[in-house]
Amino acid sequence: MIYDETIISIPLTNSNEYAYDSFITIKINYILMKKIEHIGIAVNNLQQASNLYELLLGTSCYKTEEVASEGVRTAFFKTGENKIELLEAILPDSPIAKFIAKKGEGIHHIAFDVEDIVLEMARLKDEGFTLLNEVPKRGADHKLVCFVHPKGTNGVLIELCQEIK
Ligand code: ZN
Repeated sequence: MIYDETIISIPLTNSNEYAYDSFITIKINYILMKKIEHIGIAVNNLQQASNLYELLLGTSCYKTEEVASEGVRTAFFKTGENKIELLEAILPDSPIAKFIAKKGEGIHHIAFDVEDIVLEMARLKDEGFTLLNEVPKRGADHKLVCFVHPKGTNGVLIELCQEIK
């Protein structure tokens, strides 16, 4: 289901006579999930993993950042339009530490760039998804984020992120 749509009218001819039937009405849907913004990968050792991903992607890490509230240290790589985020736990009870203890290193989440995180959270909640935070929180890389519980998304943790402007 699409959350919102808008209607525009386009004239069918170049005629100056704007009779009602010389317009065509088109519905435009808002695209709330714009693209995959990044893929998050849980790693044991950020320095070692960064060195490896620099070799793999042929590009340098452009940012490292600690998100104290999540108990993680992150490293970001650009791959064309998309990004890879490596995450290392800095606290034994952080979500990344728990994830690695359970599943080992690997893909931890897929993040989608959204136009309006509050609208998108409301839409997903309406659709019956379980959000892991009720209000957007500050994430890494200058973003507002919200996570969607993997139990409702075939085992994949989904992150919504909106750039803070
Ligand atoms: Zn992320």
